Amino acid sequence: MSQTNQRWSSSTKSMDDGMLDVLLAGAGRAAEALLHQSVSQSVSRKPNQAGIEEEERGSLLSKMLPFSSAAEAEAALGRGMTAAESLWFSYSASLPDHLLYCHNVAILLIVYTIAPLPFALLDILRSPSPPKLQPRAPRLTPAQILRCYLDTARILLLTVGALSIFSFPVVRAVGIRTGLPLPSLGEVALQMLVYFLIEDYLGYWIHRLLHTPWGYDYVHRVHHEYSAPVSYAAPYSHWAEVLILGVPSFTGPAIVPCHITTMWLWFVLRHVEAIEIHSGFDIPFNPTKLIPFYGGAEHHDYHHRVGQKSQSNFSSVFTFCDYLYGTDKGYKLHKASLTKLKEMAAENNLEQAASLEQARKNDFDKKP
Ligand SMILES: [Zn+2]
Ligand SMILES: [Zn+2]
Repeated sequence: MSQTNQRWSSSTKSMDDGMLDVLLAGAGRAAEALLHQSVSQSVSRKPNQAGIEEEERGSLLSKMLPFSSAAEAEAALGRGMTAAESLWFSYSASLPDHLLYCHNVAILLIVYTIAPLPFALLDILRSPSPPKLQPRAPRLTPAQILRCYLDTARILLLTVGALSIFSFPVVRAVGIRTGLPLPSLGEVALQMLVYFLIEDYLGYWIHRLLHTPWGYDYVHRVHHEYSAPVSYAAPYSHWAEVLILGVPSFTGPAIVPCHITTMWLWFVLRHVEAIEIHSGFDIPFNPTKLIPFYGGAEHHDYHHRVGQKSQSNFSSVFTFCDYLYGTDKGYKLHKASLTKLKEMAAENNLEQAASLEQARKNDFDKKP
């Protein structure tokens, strides 16, 4: 059987189609019916065959890659492949589906290695700009940052690696596809929005559970070791937390199945977003500040700053869950006191500013 016929997203539908042909054609055509699932059978279909077959073919096209050559793929698509589709065809046609899925591990490790680097360099160089969100917190040394990177990479490799091997049947069952055509930009954008919303909502409640005494002491305490987070500490967590937080990340694609390239993009964007909110820097003109209800680095940095006792800012992406469930009160007090401090400093009322700063340190941060 052709390797292109191993597309796991095609399993249910193509098997049904194959069985239907067997029944229709009778025992004498059983071999041909089996070939229905193969490349040669796909090629034999004419673009203008009966309507039911057209419908069947359309369904197959959206779920599988049953072509052995670019010409066959274009004939079945009824158009030429785009540059992206040609690239995808040449890359994926001969790769087993499980191997394609396991690309997740390499992608996550590459993103985790490269994306935090600019922020880490700013930390290592003790750059005064952009400003740190916790300017008085001691900056990590290169050796400490390297230790954080190596510890985290090891946990990611073990957990995400194991998950990629054992979750493959689930990914296949929910209908993640690998074939042609590739999704449109509009489809990808809508799926990203849905995935971020689901991630934010489920992640909010999981994070709140992790702040119960048991959840914090046995699991979440590890992630809070960095009270002034740095970019490489974004996924720094207990191995159980890495697995638990995989649930909200995977729920979106499970509810709204996508192409595997969309899934890769989703994991990359989610990872980059987590790195940005743990950067420890308040980046001026950051384009993410234009995203409505986006929490950003300042929002999550406050959660780390307060630590175990924090009852604020459990959301990892947006701010509306904390607003809706009233878990942004401590953050609001913090922001109000900062604004007041800036006003006093501007008025040169340094004595009053120092007194407020002391009160803020003693009080606001530890209250919900
Ligand atoms: Zn937390
Ligand atoms: Zn965090």
